[in-house]
Amino acid sequence: MKLLHRLDQSLSLTAEEHLLVDSLKRLARGSIAARAARFDSTGEFPWDNVAELNALGMNAMFVPEAYGGAALSYAAYLRCVMELSGACAATGIVWATNFHATRPLMEFGTDAQKQRLLPRIAAGGLAALCITEPTAGSDATGMRTRFSPAGGEVVVNGGKTFISNGDVADLYLLFGKWEPLGDGKDAITAMIVEKGAPGLRFGRREDKMGHRASSTTALIFEDCRVPRANLLGEPGGGLDILLRSLNKSRPSVAAHALGISRAAFEDAVAYINERRQSGKRIVEFQGIQFLLADLAGEQALCESWLWHVARLVDSGVQDVGLEASLLKLRATDLAMRMTTEAVQLHGGYGYCKDYRVERLMRDAKITQIWEGTNQIHRQLIGRSFMQKPG
Ligand SMILES: Cc1cc2nc3c(=O)[nH]c(=O)nc-3n(C[C@H](O)[C@H](O)[C@H](O)COP(=O)(O)OP(=O)(O)OC[C@H]3O[C@@H](n4cnc5c(N)ncnc54)[C@H](O)[C@@H]3O)c2cc1C
Repeated sequence: MKLLHRLDQSLSLTAEEHLLVDSLKRLARGSIAARAARFDSTGEFPWDNVAELNALGMNAMFVPEAYGGAALSYAAYLRCVMELSGACAATGIVWATNFHATRPLMEFGTDAQKQRLLPRIAAGGLAALCITEPTAGSDATGMRTRFSPAGGEVVVNGGKTFISNGDVADLYLLFGKWEPLGDGKDAITAMIVEKGAPGLRFGRREDKMGHRASSTTALIFEDCRVPRANLLGEPGGGLDILLRSLNKSRPSVAAHALGISRAAFEDAVAYINERRQSGKRIVEFQGIQFLLADLAGEQALCESWLWHVARLVDSGVQDVGLEASLLKLRATDLAMRMTTEAVQLHGGYGYCKDYRVERLMRDAKITQIWEGTNQIHRQLIGRSFMQKPG
């Protein structure tokens, strides 16, 4: 494991960031990891974990000081996502979703909106990012949720599906179309909806293969009235907000996948150093060593690319869409491969719930699907090489 630990140590964080990462690591590998199997089996929302994360002030790390937080670097945030997700992937996505849904408010919100809404998140509130609809998944621009201006209010009608933190959030970042602008991409608009908004109700909570403790819920908006002051940016300016937000959330879901992947690798290495067959430890077979070399190499290269993207974002580069796509694609494909190989290396025991790799393999699958499926990322990356015909 020396190789990956040396990579961890090469990450350039401040002393304050190291302290927080170390505290989070202790919490994640202690009580959060210990509760993960129970939450996976009951599907109960991990409130205990949320309370412990809030006791450490984890949301504050991505909210600026002026709005009640104590913002640290994006690299430090990604390191925490990785660590938490290896211990309990469901809790990892619950926490990371707070970031995904509030980052656009930090980037595009007015000072008044930030003063009013961000302290709630800094103090431990939950947030949800609402893009997907039953008929608009990979092509989010096909969304049908309508925003109709009505004096000082906006009336929302429509529905969202598969929303992480959907029924537990304090704030919702909601995308829909501004009715007077029609049905095209240039009608897409972003707005913050607050918990308890009249006309917002919850649909079904999904019963999932993995991430069973995270809540994934449908939202129904029926003449839901939201103050016009909650609009983020201008009507029709939502697509730009959406795309720029994804540039920050995709590296985050990649860090989440790499946390799952690293946990599976560590478990597999520990197991094959103990387990013996034909008079040898499994790790002594050369075929297994070749596999370890391939897996460790992929993990190290994906993590290196993660820190490359983090450095770009921390230095203020905005146009990181392709780098983020490449990272999301490779990190999540690796998580699926790594967890599958980890189950394989545990033999029959890996297929049983006594070993964590069984859960990690189920948790890994969704990472190839959400935040743009990997087919969509392949298309985005491949398309970038198309030259105009001469
Ligand atoms: C557990 C979970 C949590 C989620 N959390 C959130 C959330 O918090 N907020 C949110 O807004 N959404 C969320 N989602 C939704 C998720 O982002 C979508 O499921 C995803 O974008 C895919 O959309 P879809 O399910 O409609 O699949 P579809 O778009 O119907 O795709 C079906 C298949 O067709 C393929 N396909 C589609 N278009 C193309 C193309 N052009 N070229 C090649 N292949 C294509 C896809 O890759 C996929 O394999 C979540 C989903 C799940 C399951």
